Amino acid sequence: MSDHDPNCIFCKIIAGQIPSRKAYEDEHLLSFHDINPWAPVHVLVIPKRHIATLADIGPGDQELMGRMLALAPRLMRELGVDNGFRTLINTGKDGMQEVYHLHMHVIGGPRPWAKG
Ligand code: IMP
Repeated sequence: MSDHDPNCIFCKIIAGQIPSRKAYEDEHLLSFHDINPWAPVHVLVIPKRHIATLADIGPGDQELMGRMLALAPRLMRELGVDNGFRTLINTGKDGMQEVYHLHMHVIGGPRPWAKG
């Protein structure tokens, strides 16, 4: 598997070929705000290495997956989310995945449709 897929929109964001509103970046991960947010705070966390779906991770990716998950609470704190958040990874066709570069949605802030 190549580290970079030239046809992948998220690889283009990593390479700076498509602009994004970055929330976090390090050697392994990038996080940016979703272009079509479902809530006041909606970011995506992606590995810099191109992995198409969660179903494509291997045994060597356990640390990377831990890094992705551990970033969620840190990001939410930094973005002022203090009342809980959702994490979601859509996987494959039946999992309603639209962009085939592994990504975790992290969604927080009050929702307009929430009761009370
Ligand atoms: P999926 O359905 O889990 O694959 O989610 C893909 C997400 O990527 C959707 O929430 C889109 O709004 C988001 N998205 C697609 N293109 C861009 C972009 O260029 N910048 C930021 N978010 C994007």
